Amino acid sequence: MQSYQKPTIQKLQTGLMNKFAGVNSLKHRVKSEIAGVAVEDLVTEFGSPLFVYSEKALRRKFRSIKNAFTTRYPDVTFGWSYKTNYLKAICAIFHQEGAMAELVSKMEYDKAKNLGIPGNQIILNGPHKPFDTLLAAIKDGVIVNIDHFDEIEDLEKIASILEKTITVGIRLNLDAGIQPCWSRFGFNLESGQAMEAVQRIANSGKLRLRGLHSHIGTFITDENAYARQVEKMVKFGYEVEDRFGWRMEYIDIGGGFPSRSRLKGVYHAAEVMLPSIDDFAEAICNALWQHLKPGHTPKLIIESGRAMVDEAGTMITSVCGTKRLPNGTPAYVMDAGVNLLFTSFWYRFDIALDRVIPGTWENSVIYGPMCMNIDVIDEGISLPPLSRGDRLVISTVGAYNNTQWLQFIEYRPNVVLITENGDVELIRAAEDLSDLDRREYLPTRLQPTVSYCA
Ligand SMILES: *Cc1c(COP(=O)(O)O)cnc(C)c1O
Repeated sequence: MQSYQKPTIQKLQTGLMNKFAGVNSLKHRVKSEIAGVAVEDLVTEFGSPLFVYSEKALRRKFRSIKNAFTTRYPDVTFGWSYKTNYLKAICAIFHQEGAMAELVSKMEYDKAKNLGIPGNQIILNGPHKPFDTLLAAIKDGVIVNIDHFDEIEDLEKIASILEKTITVGIRLNLDAGIQPCWSRFGFNLESGQAMEAVQRIANSGKLRLRGLHSHIGTFITDENAYARQVEKMVKFGYEVEDRFGWRMEYIDIGGGFPSRSRLKGVYHAAEVMLPSIDDFAEAICNALWQHLKPGHTPKLIIESGRAMVDEAGTMITSVCGTKRLPNGTPAYVMDAGVNLLFTSFWYRFDIALDRVIPGTWENSVIYGPMCMNIDVIDEGISLPPLSRGDRLVISTVGAYNNTQWLQFIEYRPNVVLITENGDVELIRAAEDLSDLDRREYLPTRLQPTVSYCA
């Protein structure tokens, strides 16, 4: 039922024109099901808001990215970037597909071990590797990529404790011609710092370098940046070989491939803007073949996160209130906001209705449920008149949201996985007060009493 609204006179807008004469219109954008399951049924059973993952989409994406590389280079391994999405079920699917675990903290290391991932299937990166985690990782046969000089010192100590030579990798940062140029992780190549680190590793007499890592950024839209990265890494590897006699066993190029989503301020649709995964694979593998010595094919490790998982994740959210702003713009308060959709700070989401809704389409604003001014999902989207309970289907939300979401003001909702058979499985239950309560202690003296409230 449509609730009564005070009539207002206003200019009709059918969406904002952009410079390519496109209109940010939702017209005809109806998604009544996700991976074959009706949105209506999902909400009835699991509530709103709801995160929904498609197992078919996850596996299909992994295989297509893997295929793009394995058809061009003989030795390719993927490391699943836990920070992109460390829901157990999601990690388990990628591990089943053959991915190693790519970890950047003790917490992620604990998660992978808890999932039963053996050390030889783990890559430990990241700027903070606590000593005990590093020690456990080395004992466990993990690939460790060193971030800074203090870590070299830690590893020397560990080699002394274990009384053996430890093989390690180092992380490089380098100028691959993209902005911003990340220089805070690992050792800088161009300044000579990276070679200094290798020298230090050699001097220790307890460590041996076996591989190189670098991760040049995220949502990289130029495949040639990877070609430049690979060229620099390979050349550096041969310089190390010439000086120290260590031949590189692996070249780990990190992640950073974009997903098919639209960044804010970008007019073109993703398909027009972005190189395909084949373009990336072609640029990377060509650069390898061009710069590697004949007969030397080090393992190519790829840590793609976002591109693997983003499109497999969808969010369902419902209108909990409708209003008109003073200028007449319709605004909707949804039950999910930036607390659950951290990537809304960068993405212009693809937002669909779950059914056809009649009425005049107007430029509208979508707010989240938080009592915070920043909680805006879309500031200008063409929508028909929505009522309480109407639903929006938001994609792509599989990358970074279920790790960066906040337990802030609201509880975090259910997350479900739709299997390849179309069954729906709960993979993370909605939180309740007990999740907050179990970590807190209230000193007895502060216990509220009746008189306290009187
Ligand atoms: C975050 C991260 C990744 C994954 O990056 P995406 O942009 O999600 O592909 C890979 N490797 C390292 C070291 C990272 O920190």
